[in-house]
Amino acid sequence: MAWDFETEPEFQAKLDWMRSFIDDELIPLEPVWKRMAPADQARVKRHLQQQVKDQGLWACHLDPSLGGPGFGQMKLALMHELIGRCPFSMEIFGNQAPDSGNTELLAAGANEAQKERWLWPNLEGRLRSAFALTEPFEAGSDPTRLRTTARRDGDDWIIDGHKWFCTNGSFADFIIVMAETNPEGRPHQHASMFVVEKGTPGLNILRDIPTMHGPDPVFGELGNHAEIRFEHCRVPHENLIGKPGDGFVLAQKRLGGGRIHHAMRWIGLAKRALDILCERAVSRESHGKKLASHQMVQDFIFQSKSEIEAARLITFQAAWRMDKVGARAARAEISMAKAVSSRMLLAVLDRAIQVCGALGYSGDLPLEDWYRTNRFGPIGDGPDEIHKVVVARDALKNFVAVEGWPTEHVPSRIARGEQVFARLLAAAGRS
Ligand SMILES: Cc1cc2nc3c(=O)[nH]c(=O)nc-3n(C[C@H](O)[C@H](O)[C@H](O)COP(=O)(O)OP(=O)(O)OC[C@H]3O[C@@H](n4cnc5c(N)ncnc54)[C@H](O)[C@@H]3O)c2cc1C
Repeated sequence: MAWDFETEPEFQAKLDWMRSFIDDELIPLEPVWKRMAPADQARVKRHLQQQVKDQGLWACHLDPSLGGPGFGQMKLALMHELIGRCPFSMEIFGNQAPDSGNTELLAAGANEAQKERWLWPNLEGRLRSAFALTEPFEAGSDPTRLRTTARRDGDDWIIDGHKWFCTNGSFADFIIVMAETNPEGRPHQHASMFVVEKGTPGLNILRDIPTMHGPDPVFGELGNHAEIRFEHCRVPHENLIGKPGDGFVLAQKRLGGGRIHHAMRWIGLAKRALDILCERAVSRESHGKKLASHQMVQDFIFQSKSEIEAARLITFQAAWRMDKVGARAARAEISMAKAVSSRMLLAVLDRAIQVCGALGYSGDLPLEDWYRTNRFGPIGDGPDEIHKVVVARDALKNFVAVEGWPTEHVPSRIARGEQVFARLLAAAGRS
């Protein structure tokens, strides 16, 4: 019997260390971090990152060959649940998007020289990266509609196109760009990936886009989302990752694990939001009793807790399946985890804001910030609608059309029921 919800003691010790480190060292920094001088921030960040490295918990999404511990998705899921408690901790644990996905992509597709130049420095945090696939007019939910092109010119490639929502694009040292190179290879062998380094002529970063999270972005800050025009942007052939036409295969490398980690971080944050809700509910009175004594507030707590637990089990199941059968075979489970968890977090945050009333709506609690920041969840990494289609198609593949009544039609089942009963009666004998 192997259904086991316990964590092995050695790994539990790591999780316990993470929990204390995040709660005691990182969460207290949240309200003051942005006010600190950049040079001091950088020193404190390095100090915190070193503690994570000393514990062997830095950039754990990577295999041992890349300096990671090769934990597998199940352990990573447990870690990301804790990391999600404090959005800032991704930077401290070396798991921040889009660098984490880009290192997976480079590990899978880059040659040795490219790894030296971009992968290792990116992993160590000496270089920061961005990823540019989405376009304002074509490629978004359907990345095969890519219109950015790269054409060969001697030993170089020339990139032309319009990208946006390139997270960290205005801050990064290099951007991995997806562009069409083989039009005849549509839909899935027509695109390739190129590294474009900061300062390359023709890499024109137009602006950082105002968003729900950052309505007034300061250009070039970490976490912004850039709009970019590539105008006759010339890069050497050495900047092509993999072979021409490999773009979609490489893109897949950066998605499976990343979605599970997103889901677990959302679960970790939802738990923290529910803590805020519950604390307020037992503290504040209205109409002669504590909010916690009002049944509608209790219903909010029931819904939040049960949705968190359901999302958590779905996500663990997906992580476990990834470890057992690989990301491809676990595609439907991964999609389910992503779509369920993204909406779950918004629902829990919404209830927490409601129970905290005006205080919840205000910037005096972190709930409104978390809500705005995480509204991207159902949109990014493939909109939830597409993940729902993946789950539904996977469920439907086991079914074929029947002629006439459905299999469960009660009147049609009577004859078969009588046969089975007669056989069992004969077998039972007279005793
Ligand atoms: C905060 C944030 C960060 C991002 N970072 C990056 C990044 O670093 N690099 C990058 O390349 N991109 C990035 N993106 C872009 C992201 O990947 C896209 O937003 C996403 O793929 C959806 O594409 P779109 O926005 O163009 O939406 P569209 O393709 O215009 O779709 C809009 C809506 O249509 C519906 N829809 C679309 N297709 C279907 C379908 N098949 N069935 C049913 N409904 C459908 C969905 O509701 C979807 O939300 C980021 C986005 C956000 C919000």
